[in-house]
Amino acid sequence: MRDKEVTRRQFLGQLAAVPAGVAVLQSAAMAEELPRVDEADPAAKALLYVHDVANVDTANPMAARFEASQNCANCLQIQGNEGDTWRPCAIFPGKSVNVNGWCSAWIAKP
Ligand code: SF4
Repeated sequence: MRDKEVTRRQFLGQLAAVPAGVAVLQSAAMAEELPRVDEADPAAKALLYVHDVANVDTANPMAARFEASQNCANCLQIQGNEGDTWRPCAIFPGKSVNVNGWCSAWIAKP
């Protein structure tokens, strides 16, 4: 019977794990809830942002530094959680960008 009882240590350990788990879930949920950058938005257009690097306007002089290996996932400005498709970006506050996207503010992660 005693082995079914929860010890004080077990209880406190479980209690401590709950806020951390909730924080992780909230963080993931917040990234998913951010509105996606609209490619037609003037700020996005000014930086040539596209959701898919296949659609980068390479004829535009602002895309002169673009290389096929560049995308939002390997940009210094990307934030949020590794593995998410839509993540926050420091250049577009309050919005999420596609990890397969690109804009002319791309900077390589160190
Ligand atoms: S700054 Fe980087 S992460 Fe943000 S949209 Fe441009 S390429 Fe993507």
